[in-house]
Amino acid sequence: MKAIVFERHGPPDVLKYIEVPQPAIKPNEVLVRVKACALNHLDIWVRLGLPGVPIPLPHIPGSDVAGEIAQVGSEVTSVRVGQKVVLAPGVTCGKCPACVSGLDNRCRHFTNLGYMIDGGCAEFVRVPEVNCLPYPENLSFEEAAAVPLVFQTAWHMLVGRAQLQPGEDVLVLGASSGVGSAAIQIAKFFGARVIATAGSDEKLTKAKDLGADHLVNHKTQKIREEVRRITNKRGVDVVFEHVGTATWDESIASLAPCGRLVTCGATTGFDARIDLRFLFSRQLSLLGSYMGTKSELHTVLKLAAAGRLKPVVDRVFPLAQAAAAHAYLESSSQFGKVVLRV
Ligand SMILES: [Zn+2]
Repeated sequence: MKAIVFERHGPPDVLKYIEVPQPAIKPNEVLVRVKACALNHLDIWVRLGLPGVPIPLPHIPGSDVAGEIAQVGSEVTSVRVGQKVVLAPGVTCGKCPACVSGLDNRCRHFTNLGYMIDGGCAEFVRVPEVNCLPYPENLSFEEAAAVPLVFQTAWHMLVGRAQLQPGEDVLVLGASSGVGSAAIQIAKFFGARVIATAGSDEKLTKAKDLGADHLVNHKTQKIREEVRRITNKRGVDVVFEHVGTATWDESIASLAPCGRLVTCGATTGFDARIDLRFLFSRQLSLLGSYMGTKSELHTVLKLAAAGRLKPVVDRVFPLAQAAAAHAYLESSSQFGKVVLRV
């Protein structure tokens, strides 16, 4: 089969479009004919290499897959050959206390497709049967592939961790990212008032189209001042963070008393500081969040199938041009998801 493979970490040109053997499946696995694979910032980290994360080389990246079942293992009973599927990115042991209680993103063996195991930037990918989710028929393969990782992550952050309540005020940082564009929609779904930030007026217009109530251009405006003005000096109940060092101080300063900051990433750096006096006297909560559960993904896909959450696809590249797609994602000029068509 054709696949995108890298044999060493580095810039986008380490990604090669080559012929590799088709994966052999285990009895509890399926082989999926990939139709579309969406990129995430995770793909860039994996390609560059992360300290202390020994990614097996050569490696096929890609976490977000939509496609059709090509082959099923001998123990597979819930899906059949030819069926369209969206794949849950998280692969876990399925047996530990976390997994059996439905909190599979807490499994100590948790990994994503394309992270510690081969992923979906290929004509075929193998996954456990339990990772096959119902296909939202109203979506194209490119749109369906744009759903799982970002919507599951944003849902787990806002609903699972921050326990967003109707009518609350939410500040969504980096609204143009995949996870930001998902967060705006989920917050609006829960009846929140959304303040969205982005680095250009063009991106802010798109954030408004997704439902954002107030817009902050972080290149020309100071986030904390705008939040103060919009909320009549109160601050927001929830800050949706994933940007890291570049926005951390603004995010903390934007919280209302008893506000919750939830974060899933550190795209611009992981060094942050906090004034402990501010933390305790304002009774703030800092919440870490990592991926999401398969159950949350089932919920998200149901809402996507009903048209109540909409994947935002910025641009589609052919699989062979994965290197160009990575470079484009790194340039941060997109709004929403960059997807590879296979
Ligand atoms: Zn487990």
